[in-house]
Amino acid sequence: MKPRVFVSRHFPGEGIALLKKSCDVRIGVMKGTCPRKKLLQGAKWADAIVTLLTDKVDAEVYDQNPRLKIVANYAVGFDNIDLAEATKRGVLVTNTPGAQTESVAEHAIGLMMVLGKRIREADAFMRAGKYKGWDPDLLLGTEFDGKVCGVIGVGRIGSIFVKFAKALGMSIIYNDVVRSPDIEQKYDAKPVDINTLLKQCDVISIHVPLMPSTRHLINAGHLKLMKKTAFLINTSRGPVIDETALVSALKRRQIGGAGLDVYEFEPKLVPGLAKLDNVVLTPHIASATWEARDSMSRIAAQCVLAAFKGEVPEALVNKDVLQKNPWIKTGA
Ligand code: NAD
Repeated sequence: MKPRVFVSRHFPGEGIALLKKSCDVRIGVMKGTCPRKKLLQGAKWADAIVTLLTDKVDAEVYDQNPRLKIVANYAVGFDNIDLAEATKRGVLVTNTPGAQTESVAEHAIGLMMVLGKRIREADAFMRAGKYKGWDPDLLLGTEFDGKVCGVIGVGRIGSIFVKFAKALGMSIIYNDVVRSPDIEQKYDAKPVDINTLLKQCDVISIHVPLMPSTRHLINAGHLKLMKKTAFLINTSRGPVIDETALVSALKRRQIGGAGLDVYEFEPKLVPGLAKLDNVVLTPHIASATWEARDSMSRIAAQCVLAAFKGEVPEALVNKDVLQKNPWIKTGA
């Protein structure tokens, strides 16, 4: 019998076709979010499930099926997955690291540019037929060359963002729980505590994973430290910023603006956010490039296929789980 794979929702890229070559594949839904009931049924039937960040994978899911070998999450972030419960049951959890790095870093730069060059307002102005000729006072923005850029979390995505910001002529300071000598040397980046970063920067871009320690990493008190002209960019996860406090800071013009791709109560927005003129909002599409989706799709499929062969999947997140899986060839 072929191994069974349940894919909660269809996604682009060659990954699903790759799985179909050697596995029996069922797709939960072609569009939208997989209903909970379907996810549970899929988990009950399958040896492996491929999930999206919109699927909550918890004890109830694992308990559907003691044969479940692996949950391959089609995302870098895995805050939708209860890792401890997976490890307890010997279920491997994988993500798609590196697949979205350039895409997300470029998107963060894009949000910063849209704010600084007032592209959103300018586009609306043109479409409304308001352009009557060149005007030296029209829609003045800001330059980034020579400004200070602060990056919170200089892992895969954050470090590429640093590279781009440096190329724009910005000086770099960063905050991370781990020092990064490489970033410091290559880009003359200085590690600082979070308060110093918030006080000194003209642009702040957040690239940390969502964990209990990063929930509301940026709160009302932090926003008060920022310059009145500074831009806050978030392409990481919504709950990293207290969104209600952010709306209040933006309304009072306490900061210059915000560029957001992710939201605290996604897909809902905190009341008032969408009415503000000093924000740029995108619907969690920082990784939505053909290149990234293709790579995510391949990595997720390869992780599942590796687990079926008894190999350690390259993107294994819960490494402790190997102690519970004598069938895995660790190569050790
Ligand atoms: P990564 O693990 O390579 O980097 C994360 C960095 O954050 C690490 O250097 C880590 O030390 C640092 N960090 C952790 N806790 C911290 C804290 N409290 N303070 C400061 N730094 C801290 O991850 P990555 O591949 O760069 O991805 C980062 C996040 O981006 C993902 O976890 C995911 O949630 C998000 N993401 C979003 C999208 C999107 O479409 N918007 C796409 C991909 C990833």
